[in-house]
Amino acid sequence: MRVLLALGGNAMTGPDGRARPEDQVAAAKVAMESVADLVAEGVDVVLTHGNGPQVGNLLVKNELAAAVVPPVPLDWCGAQTQATLGLILMNALDDALARRGVRRPSATVVTRTLVDADDPGFERPTKPIGRFLPADEAALLVEHGETWEDRGAKGWRRMVASPEPREILDAAATLALVDAGFVVVANGGGGIPVVREGESHRGVEAVIDKDLGAALLARTVAADVLVVATDVPHAVLRYGEPDAEDVGRVTVSRMRELAGEGHFASGSMGPKVDAACRFVEQGGRCAVITDLDSIVAAVTEPDGRSGTVVVPDNNPEGDPDA
Ligand code: ADP
Ligand code: MG
Repeated sequence: MRVLLALGGNAMTGPDGRARPEDQVAAAKVAMESVADLVAEGVDVVLTHGNGPQVGNLLVKNELAAAVVPPVPLDWCGAQTQATLGLILMNALDDALARRGVRRPSATVVTRTLVDADDPGFERPTKPIGRFLPADEAALLVEHGETWEDRGAKGWRRMVASPEPREILDAAATLALVDAGFVVVANGGGGIPVVREGESHRGVEAVIDKDLGAALLARTVAADVLVVATDVPHAVLRYGEPDAEDVGRVTVSRMRELAGEGHFASGSMGPKVDAACRFVEQGGRCAVITDLDSIVAAVTEPDGRSGTVVVPDNNPEGDPDA
């Protein structure tokens, strides 16, 4: 069995969202305990991860050091965080596997993902990145061509496009490593968004949604199961209300209906549900949304008791031979 596991922000930062190096190492250590349990079960695991807080930190360095060191573009920030988080995850995974007496090599792929130059997202940037700034400092950056938005009491925030991921350009390298038995970390932060210009590729100032990138990667590496690991054990109906209800095992068309009813917030649970539905609609066996503590149970017994499990309409039992 092959599992694509997408790690959310909480798996890569401290419980309070802090992203000091020690917070990130500690969070990776916790996450890799669950991953090592899966690997020890004999599952092929491909990992991807968010990078919001890490890119946010790099952007602050860019701003503060601009007079001394030239700022680097957003695609470089993406590449740097893919490499750094890959390093942290591989170190933590090696240790967790060694404690279980399991030997399995790991590798990280700096991954570029193709987006359309005319994606509507570029007209109307929707993804907030970096830190909040006072209006006068934001105005300076707007003069330099950036889009900033007034976010009320907290100040102004930079907005970039969140284009659709079309194709993972480094899929062949990723797949070769997976087939050779490596636990592979790939497409971090949703992939480094690039556009095609003739025969070459150019990085763009955009951020691909990590969960939608994960769904595409899952199909690309022919994963049986997509697992979106976050900080809640289930997607929830009427979230936060007194009559809130966990979603257990659900068909993809029912999950689409529930999404249409507005149960899943657009900046958080919404893209996870969309990613899970896409994966199953495109032929995946099942998709799971759950927390790190539940992933092993959800993958080995996808009956909906652990996690939200989205299954195909025509094979709701998730029979691998159907
Ligand atoms: P990650 O950083 O792990 O990718 P997010 O923070 O973006 O995750 O999304 C997970 C969060 O989504 C949960 O902590 C929860 O607060 C929020 N959320 C919004 N709507 C729902 C819902 N319907 N069911 C469960 N969680 C929801
Ligand atoms: Mg998120």
